[in-house]
Amino acid sequence: MSAEFDKLAKEEEPQDPLEGFIYKLAPKGSLTLFRLLRDEGRELTEDEIAEKLGASKNIVRKILYKLHDLNILVYRRMKEESTNWNTYYWKINWEGLSVSLIERKKEVLKKLKQRLAYESSNRVVYVCHKCGREYKFEEALANDFFCPICHIPLDYIDRTQQVILLEKYVRKLEEELADELRRIQSS
Ligand SMILES: [Zn+2]
Repeated sequence: MSAEFDKLAKEEEPQDPLEGFIYKLAPKGSLTLFRLLRDEGRELTEDEIAEKLGASKNIVRKILYKLHDLNILVYRRMKEESTNWNTYYWKINWEGLSVSLIERKKEVLKKLKQRLAYESSNRVVYVCHKCGREYKFEEALANDFFCPICHIPLDYIDRTQQVILLEKYVRKLEEELADELRRIQSS
């Protein structure tokens, strides 16, 4: 069974942020299945998906339900009159996906801003390479530039370049988010 998962996942290399999001969260083989539904541009049944992917229904069903849990896919259930069986028609939950993507970006942005706040207020620090503790100039000076715990000399760190990079990245992400929110609200 896992060999079959591996086969499905062979070509999986995320090509854009949306694919990266699916690749990170969903099990192996998900991206292949997602691309099939995206490229077909219509609803597909489990049988059709299994056939097109050359995978067993069992595997396909597992991935489908996982993607459904993650809000990436939705299905429509239809009772076949002749057999009285239910057929499931699957498609991509585009609306839900953009919302999840935005939520995730917001999380990333929040963490980046926290990091930025920390690094800008600790732009220049002294660090002990043994225990990793950081000291501000006054603390380092008071300890003659030695780590008071490990008794070894402290290293000097200047994060100015890092802070500039982080600021740039935060701004870029904020712009992306604003664009996406506008797009969702206008659609
Ligand atoms: Zn130390």
